[in-house]
Amino acid sequence: MFESLSDRLGKIFDGLKGRGALSEGDVDAALREVRRALIEADVSLEVVRAFVEQVRDRAVGQEVTRSVTPGQQVVKIVHDQLVAVLGEDAVPVSLNAPAPVPILMVGLQGAGKTTVSAKIAKRLKERQGKKVLLASLDTRRPAAMEQLAVLGQQVGVESLPIVKTETAVEISRRAVREARLGGFDVVILDTAGRTHIDEELMAETAEIKAVTNPHEVLLVADALTGQDAVNLARSFDQRVDITGIVLTRVDGDGRGGAALSMRAATGKPIKLIGVGEKMDAIEDFHPGRIADRILG
Ligand code: GDP
Repeated sequence: MFESLSDRLGKIFDGLKGRGALSEGDVDAALREVRRALIEADVSLEVVRAFVEQVRDRAVGQEVTRSVTPGQQVVKIVHDQLVAVLGEDAVPVSLNAPAPVPILMVGLQGAGKTTVSAKIAKRLKERQGKKVLLASLDTRRPAAMEQLAVLGQQVGVESLPIVKTETAVEISRRAVREARLGGFDVVILDTAGRTHIDEELMAETAEIKAVTNPHEVLLVADALTGQDAVNLARSFDQRVDITGIVLTRVDGDGRGGAALSMRAATGKPIKLIGVGEKMDAIEDFHPGRIADRILG
């Protein structure tokens, strides 16, 4: 469906043999294609602009080495810059706090918060032998609470008993207390989402954060989020100071530009990626792989 950036740049540079330095004219022609590739990958325009400038600074005047074509050289510069912006290393979810470590999951409805909560619980249990408690704070959607309990059962992790009359803040307080009394290592708090960012949601999430003092605040976001990615990540970050991002649906057929948009907008690391509906379909984030995907 997409023509890869390498192919497009190859055409631009066909006439230029691998000799001399990249001139401003060569780089400008290449940058038009870089810009197009990023926009097709759904990177937000604001981030595309800043990114293209960074690539220009790196590329102009670079000696063209004999072993690669200028097109390949620009692709390498773009790739390296993507990795630099996306963050070089996979940053694990931190449990470096007194038990029970609270982890707060935030994001829009349908982003995959409940699924990711159960996936993380399973991972922590199986890989690190942690005793995890799952708690749904979604008082508006009883089905969401049930869903977390069902997924918890599926992965063999306890979930907080549902008390229908409590507010989200009350549930979060009870979750932390029960986790402490029950000797849990980690308590994962799955907040309610909305279809769009609204003040009520942000205020509630901020209050839950103040009450539970989470060690990690993970924004769960759909990798297929387009131009709204910057606004979404920035809104949550400004209001509840996220510590990391979990991108879901990386198995979908988009090009994953949201990763670059969200990382550039917040500077917060992408910690994990969701790659399917199954409970094992979660992986560490590798910037190089997403960079390859954005470049097509
Ligand atoms: P929430 O409203 O944020 O809690 O979202 P859910 O966890 O209920 O997820 C909404 C839908 O997305 C469910 O059908 C999930 O199975 C699906 N889902 C979540 N993560 C992924 C993923 O990484 N890949 C795919 N293909 N589907 C996912």
